[in-house]
Amino acid sequence: MLARLPSSHPRYLAISKRAHQLKAGYDGERYVDKILNEIAFPQGTSILKDITLEINPDYIIQIDTLIITPYNSYLLEIKNYSGSIQFNQTVGKTIKTSPNGQMDKYDCIIHQLDRAKTGLKEWLNQHNMDMPIEALIVMANSNTDIPIPLETAIVKYAKQIPLYIRSHFKKEKTITSTSINKITKTIQLHRKKWWTDFPCKQYNISPNELKRGVLCNTCNEPTTRIPGHSWFCYLCKKNNKSALNKSVDDWFLLVSPTLTNRQLRLFLGLRSSSATSVVLRSQNLKRHGATRNITYTKK
Ligand SMILES: [Zn+2]
Repeated sequence: MLARLPSSHPRYLAISKRAHQLKAGYDGERYVDKILNEIAFPQGTSILKDITLEINPDYIIQIDTLIITPYNSYLLEIKNYSGSIQFNQTVGKTIKTSPNGQMDKYDCIIHQLDRAKTGLKEWLNQHNMDMPIEALIVMANSNTDIPIPLETAIVKYAKQIPLYIRSHFKKEKTITSTSINKITKTIQLHRKKWWTDFPCKQYNISPNELKRGVLCNTCNEPTTRIPGHSWFCYLCKKNNKSALNKSVDDWFLLVSPTLTNRQLRLFLGLRSSSATSVVLRSQNLKRHGATRNITYTKK
């Protein structure tokens, strides 16, 4: 979206901030994955990631990581914050103060964690299953400062997780391997695909507000077609071999799962419908409908 949206667009800053948050969240989860690889989990352990479960149509939970060992299960809510964190359960907010002094408020992560744990318990109950669950807030960034320790939830830095989880391995086993298998299979079977609207719909941006053309892979500005060659960016002074495929993909990522000749012609700023047909044929797309009413989807 940021590549296609002109930087002068009124929503550019908000989307750029959201993209930054999503990237930080993703990096945090990747880092915790690496840390978890350090743990020699007991035989039969199951690790599930990015689970979305529906308890009822109004109660949907998302779990970053669920680790089920024979000794205990751990529901991990992973956060990647820089700066200082304050939990204010009374007002239901988590307040992050960045090193530059900027303050951001989030929905209370203790409440979020409790909602996920209670939801998972309820979901297991609906499927006639049960297990002990320990919910943990995991701070991926070891520089995140938590000035007031929490009494109502367990907060650990990612680096503390291996020692913490390993310390439970000597205790009594509470979950049988049959249970672990059954719970894992049932979650795999029922997990929902997390699906949000297409970004254009989500942010109420019409495709007409996006930059038109085949954009350069480096600077995201429109390229020029050099006959017999490829798409050339005069700013970067280079050819972009994959720019056309990437620009067609932009439509499917941002706007809609279907595409017509007219839509693509306007989106890429092509001269004619016959030129657009050539482009459409060059892409690995599925054709639907009769001669005058053809739509294309990804295969
Ligand atoms: Zn360029």
